[in-house]
Amino acid sequence: MSAMNETLIRDVVAEVLGRLGGAAPPAFPATAPAAKHDCGCGGNGSASGRPALRGKFGVFADANEACAAAHESFLQLQKGGIAARVKIVEIVKAMAEVNAEVWGKLELDETKIGRLDHKIEKLKIIKLVPGVEWLRPDARSGDHGITLEEYTPFGVVGAVTPSTHSIPTLSGNIVNICAAGNAVVFNPHPSAARCAAVAVRAYNEAIFRETGIENIATIIEKPSMESFAAMCKHEAVRILLVTGGPGVVKAAMQTGKRAICAGPGNPPVYVDDTACMKRAAKAIIQGASYDNNLLCIGEKEVFALESIADKLMEQMAQNGAVKLTNAQLDALTKAAFTITPGQGGGCSHAAVNKDFIGKDPIVLAKAAGLNIPPGTQLLFAETGADHPFVVEEQMMPFLPITRVKSLEEGVARSLEAEHGYKHTSIIHSHDLEALTQMGRALDTTLFIKNGPCMAGLGLGGEGYLSFSIATPTGEGVSNPRTFTRVRRCVMVDNLRIY
Ligand code: NAD
Repeated sequence: MSAMNETLIRDVVAEVLGRLGGAAPPAFPATAPAAKHDCGCGGNGSASGRPALRGKFGVFADANEACAAAHESFLQLQKGGIAARVKIVEIVKAMAEVNAEVWGKLELDETKIGRLDHKIEKLKIIKLVPGVEWLRPDARSGDHGITLEEYTPFGVVGAVTPSTHSIPTLSGNIVNICAAGNAVVFNPHPSAARCAAVAVRAYNEAIFRETGIENIATIIEKPSMESFAAMCKHEAVRILLVTGGPGVVKAAMQTGKRAICAGPGNPPVYVDDTACMKRAAKAIIQGASYDNNLLCIGEKEVFALESIADKLMEQMAQNGAVKLTNAQLDALTKAAFTITPGQGGGCSHAAVNKDFIGKDPIVLAKAAGLNIPPGTQLLFAETGADHPFVVEEQMMPFLPITRVKSLEEGVARSLEAEHGYKHTSIIHSHDLEALTQMGRALDTTLFIKNGPCMAGLGLGGEGYLSFSIATPTGEGVSNPRTFTRVRRCVMVDNLRIY
């Protein structure tokens, strides 16, 4: 078979698979004419008035080709104007919702981490990601005329997505990045790359049909460290957005390009005697069990004031969480971590066993040596502050609870457990002093009071959603403005109307 035939067959197979994996929403019918092809330019439209399907629909084997195609697409998007950006945002939001069940299952089947109900929900809520409306220009008007500052695109953004929420991160990133007028190249997590490619292909097909713009979001089909390096090095890639753990944050910061880094967290929770114990327990269970605790903002360890620690644990048990005995905790710890003793009296190191990340509570319970009722959301146990479950970002539906003697100790322990990631911290209290002291001391990007972690992303609290929260680099919950250059345009002495 010739190389050309092989390529053709590969593309056709990939296209069919892509179509099977992702349905366009009814709002964007397959027969819709391409808006950009009414001009008679003889471009992508076919004789039937329906745009011809061509190309790779965003999925590329080669990183350089993916970057070059995204750059070409950025130029097309510039011509399409704001209207094209608005359309892209509409398409991605609608398709994420329409395909939530199919894509959620696809992602779970591939990664084998998390929970199907939450994988589906994470796609249904992409509609909460802000769009073009966030780019209102700033204007100043005075005796010397008028100055306008506009939020303008960079060009191509190189993005890295995590295994914990592959399609949701990718979808939210496309909305933010394209609303700002950019194109994007994805180097996805290798263990969640197939489902990501299905979504990218489906988005591109629908976007192409509606706007005539091809490859607005491209993806490297088989991502690797080499493809990451090639993407970062490509001259069309102007900025990077990485969502992941410490390794990729460090790698992105070393590229010499500006990197917006949505890095790791280990969110502590402090509960004091002024909190409503039932509300606190329910919120903690809701947050820590979400997608089996895969959220970077998810509650990872609790510091409870000694006087209410028993009450809090009682409420957690009454609201469906299961408490482990010390022996069961020891068994689970042995299974969930590999502990390397420190050399020469130094500290020992605990590495999380990946087989337990994002697994159901029933799997953890089995390792702990107990049977739990089906549907149990979360396990918990009392631990010391230096327990591996407190220290490591463990991403399992298990929560360690540590007693503290005072607000000062609670804050100090929380600070220690957060490791200076400046990501997320949570408090349950009605004491103004405690709320203020913890907020100031922890200095985290998200600080949530009296609610579950997801309230920090607009789910039950005020605000908007993104699955990329830029923590070490300080951009915060990413939004379209995150991916813009601010440019100033000055008219001297004229145009002011008063
Ligand atoms: P991970 O760090 O293993 O992988 C993230 C991405 O980085 C993947 O695409 C991976 O291939 C790539 N990567 C990893 N090391 C790299 C390196 N040295 N060079 C180049 N690329 C590299 O993370 P994960 O397990 O997929 O996701 C969980 C982590 O991501 C947790 O630490 C979590 O807190 C964090 N996270 C943060 C946010 C946020 O918004 N701040 C959101 C989701 C996840």
